[in-house]
Amino acid sequence: MIKICPKCGSIRVNWIAGGIAGAVYKCDECNYVGSFILEIRPEKLDQFRKELNSKR
Ligand SMILES: [Zn+2]
Repeated sequence: MIKICPKCGSIRVNWIAGGIAGAVYKCDECNYVGSFILEIRPEKLDQFRKELNSKR
């Protein structure tokens, strides 16, 4: 499983803070910061990005 940004679909997501209460992640692509992050299988990444693009 890989972590991806729920906003832009980037895999450039970094764990910046957190602990027992929950982690906080930051996306390098769109500067999204939050505890909600998507985890998907690598083979689903292309499909997810297509869906993301079609919503724009
Ligand atoms: Zn992002």
